[in-house]
Amino acid sequence: MRIASFSLDGQTQRRVGIVHDLGDAGSLRPDSRIVLIDITSTRKNLESPLDVIKAVDQGLVRDVERAIRRAPTREIEFRQLHAPVQHPGKFLAIGFNYRAHAEEVRTEIAEHPLFFNKQVTCVSGPSSPIPLPAGCTMLDYEGELAFVVSRRCSNVSSGRAGDVIGAWMVCNDVSARDWQRESRTVTMGKSHDGFGPIGPWLVTRDEVDDPAALRIETRVNGELRQSGSTSEMIFDLGAQLAYLSARCTLEPGDIITTGSPAGSAQGMDPPPWLKVGDVVRIDIPGVGAVQNEVIDERRRPGT
Ligand code: MG
Repeated sequence: MRIASFSLDGQTQRRVGIVHDLGDAGSLRPDSRIVLIDITSTRKNLESPLDVIKAVDQGLVRDVERAIRRAPTREIEFRQLHAPVQHPGKFLAIGFNYRAHAEEVRTEIAEHPLFFNKQVTCVSGPSSPIPLPAGCTMLDYEGELAFVVSRRCSNVSSGRAGDVIGAWMVCNDVSARDWQRESRTVTMGKSHDGFGPIGPWLVTRDEVDDPAALRIETRVNGELRQSGSTSEMIFDLGAQLAYLSARCTLEPGDIITTGSPAGSAQGMDPPPWLKVGDVVRIDIPGVGAVQNEVIDERRRPGT
């Protein structure tokens, strides 16, 4: 299943849809048409994409099937999709997890996984704008495979990772390199609002034959910048989960993003930092795509 969060035009309510037909959306553009089965309000325990993932994890697939049978279909555009997880408890990311990426920024291969926090308020949608913050001069992209935890867990052995990975999605680990380099914790360069485009939906485990053999491609204004495979990870998915879950309890909805291949702007000379108007697109065939335009921070509505 591909489970999406979306709104109907002119409405603010976040709805839950099971992707029924990608239509002409093989290439997933912001105006691509997508047919969803709208299960919003069909059952009390299925009010968000994460609820569906938890229900599947708990063996309540029949609840989901019943909801699908009763639900209407809707045709929407890609731009109407929201982040499939809106309020994760944690948003953790691993750095330098691809050898070629570590080498391009002249960083030693780490002995242990290097995890950092992205503050959860940075979560944004698959076609939401990426704000270029005032004062940031080194805005960068990182195309990554991310997953969502389906159940509360700790001390998960690497061989049991599949038990707690609820779904896959695409993530752009947007980074302000100047802010990142000011602080050893990295977090300050990774956490601005809009620095966490995720989506375009949650893809359940059964839809992905081999998560360790997925292509990741990042394009800026159509130019291919990153082209890698999840097979190139230094710490694989099981190793990441074992390491993390031995150090903190993971909970349903926590997002883990698993590192970026070579080709981010910081590895190039001179670095082509993102600028207002650039369009960053990340494709992971079999999972989906996110496509986000960089806008001037001052164009964002204040809060
Ligand atoms: Mg990253």
